[in-house]
Amino acid sequence: MQWETVIGLEIHAQLATRSKIFSAAATAFGAEPNTQACAIDLGLPGVLPVLNQEAVRMAVRFGLAIDAEIGRRSVFARKNYFYPDLPKGYQISQYELPIVGKGQVEIVLDDQVKVIGVTRAHLEEDAGKSLHEDNSLGMGGMTGIDLNRAGTPLLEIVSEPDMRSAREAVAYARKIHQIVRYLGICDGNMQEGSFRCDANVSVRPKGQAEFGTRAEIKNLNSFRFLERAINFEVERQIELIESGGSVVQETRLYDPAKDETRSMRSKEEANDYRYFPDPDLLPVELDEAFIETLRSDLPELPDAKRHRFAQDYGLSEADAETLASSRALADYFERVAQVCGDARLAANWVNGELAAALNKEAKDISASPVSAEALGGLIQRILDNTISGKLAKQVFEALWAGAASADAVIEEQGLRQITDSGAIEAIVDQVIAANPKQVDNYRAADESKRPKMLGFFVGQVMKQSQGKANPQQVNQLLQAKLG
Ligand code: ADP
Ligand code: MG
Repeated sequence: MQWETVIGLEIHAQLATRSKIFSAAATAFGAEPNTQACAIDLGLPGVLPVLNQEAVRMAVRFGLAIDAEIGRRSVFARKNYFYPDLPKGYQISQYELPIVGKGQVEIVLDDQVKVIGVTRAHLEEDAGKSLHEDNSLGMGGMTGIDLNRAGTPLLEIVSEPDMRSAREAVAYARKIHQIVRYLGICDGNMQEGSFRCDANVSVRPKGQAEFGTRAEIKNLNSFRFLERAINFEVERQIELIESGGSVVQETRLYDPAKDETRSMRSKEEANDYRYFPDPDLLPVELDEAFIETLRSDLPELPDAKRHRFAQDYGLSEADAETLASSRALADYFERVAQVCGDARLAANWVNGELAAALNKEAKDISASPVSAEALGGLIQRILDNTISGKLAKQVFEALWAGAASADAVIEEQGLRQITDSGAIEAIVDQVIAANPKQVDNYRAADESKRPKMLGFFVGQVMKQSQGKANPQQVNQLLQAKLG
C-alpha cells in the first residue's frame, strides 16, 4: 500500500514587544525567576488588562505580509484550563474572531514553488514555565514555577493541512520564520522558545480523499527536531495501521534523545476550554487608515525578493530562495552583484564558497570576515581575466583570513593570470616536446576521443604555469599545435 502524509502546523511566534501583551511588565529573556510578572499577568483580583497596541501592529503586519484578510473586528476570549503555570485559570486568546484570517505563503523545494495556506493567526498571552528538578537520584525532586513568561505576547499561526512531507513542513516553518524576522516582529530564537512549532500529522492511502486521524506533536523547538519528529510519527502511524491497529487522536511529545514521539494525552481526556469573550477587554476594531499605514510600511518580503532575484538576475528559484532567506544575506548578495556587475556569478559565490565557509565556522552573514565589496572585487578579477576561477578560491581563502582586497592578494602572491600568448606558447611547446607518446596517441585517436585526451595536456600546462595560464588560451593553442 502506498501512503500519503498530511501535515498542518501551529506555530507560536513570540512578538518582540518590550512589555507584555496586557501589562507594562518587561518581556526580556533570562531575568531572575518571578521578577517580571505583575498582578495583571497573574490575573489577581481587582486588576484590568490593557491591550498593548504594538502587539496589534505586529500581528497586522504579519497578516499583510502573507496577503491575509485582516480582521476589522477581533475579539479576545478566555480559554479556561487549570495548570500550575497558569495561576489565573484561563489564558487570554482569540477564538471565533482572530485578528488575521486566511492567507498564504510560498515554499521552494527542488526548484519547485508550492503555495501553503494559512488558516488564521491570532493573538494570545503565554503562560509561565514549570521547572522540574532532576529526581533521577530518587531524592525527591521539586518543581518550581517561573511566571516571567506569563503574559508575553504570542502570535499563533495555524496552517492548512497542505504539507505532504516533513521536508515541506520544514520549508514552510522556515518561511514563516523568515517572514517574522524580515518584519522584525519576532527574534526567531528557537532555543529561547521565541518560535515553537506543533505538528499535526496523519497518513492516508494514496488516492483517498478523506484525511486520516491525526496526532499532534507539541513544542518542537528546532527545524531538525520538527523534521525528525514528523518522520518518526509517519513511520509509527503506517506501521500501526498496517499491523491492524488504528491511529487515535492524541497529543504526543517528541523526545530528541530517543528520537521518538510518546503519547502525552488522548483526545478523550482533552480539555473542554469553555471559551467565552473576555469581559475585561474591548473588541479590537481596526480602521482602514491604520491598516494602510502599516501596509505602506512593509519591507520587501522574502517571496517578493525571490521573484525579483529570479526575474531580474536570471537566478534559479532555489538560488533566489536561499539568497532571499534573510534581509542581511539578500542585501549582501545585491551589493556583491552591484560591485562585480555579474549577478549570477555573485550568486554562485555567495551560495557556494562563502556559504560553505560561513557554515563551517557557524557564522552568520553579518559576521562574515569577507565584506561584500571584497567579494565583488574578487569576482571582478575573474571577469576581467586577471585570475582564473581556480586561483580565485585561493584568493578567497586569503580574504577570509583577513586580507584587505583581492588586488592586494593577487599582487602579494603573484597570482596574476598569464595571458601573454608568447609565454603560454613556450610552455605548450615544452609540454608537447616532453610527452611524445601522448602526442602520437592523440593524433592517432578518433575525433570524438580527442577532447578528453586534450585534458591531459591542459593539466600539464596549468601545472607548469602554477595555475596561472589562461585556460581558454591554453586550450586553443594546444588544439592548434596538436592538429
Ligand atoms: P485543534 O484546534 O484541535 O488543534 P484545528 O482544526 O485548529 O484543531 O487544526 C489544527 C491543525 O491541524 C491545523 O494546522 C490543521 O491544518 C491541522 N490538521 C487538521 N486535520 C488534520 C489531519 N487530518 N492531518 C494533519 N493535519 C491536520
Ligand atoms: Mg491544536
